[in-house]
Amino acid sequence: MAALCKINNKWKDAELKTGFVPTMGALHEGHLSLVKLALEHADRVVVSIYVNPAQFAPHEDFESYPRDIDSDLEKLEAAGAHLVYLPQEAELYPDGVKIDMDAGRAGAGLDADFRPHFFHGVATIVRRLFDHVQPDMAVFGEKDYQQLMVIREMVERQNLPIEIIGGPTMRDDHGLALSSRNAYLSESELAIAQQMNVILRDTPDPEAAKSALLTAGFDKIDYIEERWDRRLAAGWVGETRLLDNIKIT
Ligand code: AMP
Repeated sequence: MAALCKINNKWKDAELKTGFVPTMGALHEGHLSLVKLALEHADRVVVSIYVNPAQFAPHEDFESYPRDIDSDLEKLEAAGAHLVYLPQEAELYPDGVKIDMDAGRAGAGLDADFRPHFFHGVATIVRRLFDHVQPDMAVFGEKDYQQLMVIREMVERQNLPIEIIGGPTMRDDHGLALSSRNAYLSESELAIAQQMNVILRDTPDPEAAKSALLTAGFDKIDYIEERWDRRLAAGWVGETRLLDNIKIT
């Protein structure tokens, strides 16, 4: 943290713009595309890796969330990130892990109906990370569209001098949105998961899309709903929760 401050001040003195990409690690091409986008908009890019306990419910996968710091650091160096911030829990939560930021209107409904703590936890950690990193701009993936909306709204509400940029969703050859949690999928589950984007795109009626996903092998659909200019969906294949959205054309 002290080192981060020092480097930050040096950059500010040199009038260099800082871009910031917060992540939970287990990095894939989706994360790295955000780093590249940040490099296009800023002179220096900071990436944080921190699995935030405040956005996991007790029954969720905080303990088992994939972690691979060595490989993450290699990927970030190759992508051209200037600094990787690996905060300790005590730095971010000196008074213990707690939620103290409201997720606002964007944080109501959709995912929040199924993970009520989630966006408050995200808003809390992102606000704290912003305080530490003090970026001029920050990049978030459109993959987590509601999260992007929550952050935009929070920055507006709090009048923070930070530009928020949304990065397009990176997908595999079948159109499945890349996600660290895809590592949980078995081969047969992966084939099912790869249907999600196809069905979202080809089946505008939410009820029809829901039943098409169940027929494809999904075990449960949390929601399919249209909001902003998006059709958003969350569903389960086995023990893995998948999230996706597409722009409504
Ligand atoms: P996470 O590590 O899952 O918290 O994600 C960190 C950032 O990467 C968030 O802004 C996500 O929206 C973004 N992200 C995750 N997956 C993708 C993807 N497939 N394409 C683009 N951005 C992504």
